[in-house]
Amino acid sequence: MTEKTQNASKNVREKTSSLFCPADRKCGGCRYLKMPYEEQLKLKRERVAKLLKPYCKVSPVVGMEQPLHYRNKVHAVFDRTRDGRIISGIYQEGTHRVVPVDNCLIENEKADAIIRDIRGLLKSFKIRTYDEDTGYGLLRHVLVRVGHKTGQIMVVLVLGSPILPSKNNFVKALRKLHPEITTIIVNVNNRQTSMVLGDKENVIYGKGYIEDELCGCTFRISSRSFYQVNSVQTELLYRKAVELAGLAGKERVIDAYCGIGTIGIIAAPQAKEVISVELNKDAVRDAVRNAAQNGVRNISFYQNDAGNFLAGMAEDKEKADVVFMDPPRQGSSEEFMSSVVMLAPKKIVYISCGPESLARDLKYLTAHGYQAQGAWPYDMFPFTEEIETVCLLNRTR
Ligand code: SAH
Repeated sequence: MTEKTQNASKNVREKTSSLFCPADRKCGGCRYLKMPYEEQLKLKRERVAKLLKPYCKVSPVVGMEQPLHYRNKVHAVFDRTRDGRIISGIYQEGTHRVVPVDNCLIENEKADAIIRDIRGLLKSFKIRTYDEDTGYGLLRHVLVRVGHKTGQIMVVLVLGSPILPSKNNFVKALRKLHPEITTIIVNVNNRQTSMVLGDKENVIYGKGYIEDELCGCTFRISSRSFYQVNSVQTELLYRKAVELAGLAGKERVIDAYCGIGTIGIIAAPQAKEVISVELNKDAVRDAVRNAAQNGVRNISFYQNDAGNFLAGMAEDKEKADVVFMDPPRQGSSEEFMSSVVMLAPKKIVYISCGPESLARDLKYLTAHGYQAQGAWPYDMFPFTEEIETVCLLNRTR
């Protein structure tokens, strides 16, 4: 982190936010840009507390010491202005118009620099930006992922067609500017879609994934696997989640919506057995390797819809002692939750990035034999409205 950033972070915590962002109005990401950080935390807590009021107490939000430039994953869409200037940035909120971004207050600064330098290389390599309306041109998006602890950096070039001309020289030129880049991937997305990444990938430099460390374990992350964007806060959140589970070494644990296996792998040394389930194939592949890499043997991974998988377990009259669940923003499914109720774990540790869906799911679980013991919000996304919450439920019957 640069000195400038550290000073800015300090100001943010102490006084009203004097932060300025030229893309602010159009981006819509940092809705709390002008709000002092402590006030953001208060507001987020109030929101969660209001939603969870019928179920449990909500602790104060755990905030960041340095709430700027926390995003370890940065995405830029490429385009050209009418007068032919190449720009990169974000879609204007609710549109497909590109708003130029050079420096973002919440994105990793090195990732932003890499994106600016890729933009600078395009002309001499005669790489044109992709036009979403006509389908002409090549470069659509760039995705950069930075390993917070390891410093390893992944660059994904998302192209409208598979061939990157002078690919070796492009790699050389980019690596000369940023020798810290450890892998470069070409991803092909030729569909009319708002999904950034396509299905086909070609590694043009390095191993095709990066590694990072969380809670003393090493994790490999490939381009299409989910990985929390704020590593500092993730570590605190996972510690809390595992602590709430209160494992004593004898438990049968389920880690549902496990991504690259993080929570289950961190918890496994304190459990008898962990069963993890995740829908995304790439993430499951990462998870299997992550377990081996960390010497964790009492864990198994299943690639499946979590609801479907748990329903199968429930049908087989299986039991579990603890269930970690970390579903996407829209929350879990009734199939999943009714199966959890049949597996009858003593504890459910619910990690949520959507307080509304968390409240909805708590309504179900508390009506089916569980009682919420408390909720602990973590600010994973300073300056935005988003908030992550971990909630503990105990079985009451
Ligand atoms: N626990 C992980 C991932 C959480 S994000 C971590 O902390 O990193 C939610 C994950 O749920 C994503 O990896 C996503 O691919 C997965 N997912 C989404 N829908 C799913 C479903 N129906 N069944 C299983 N996994 C699903």
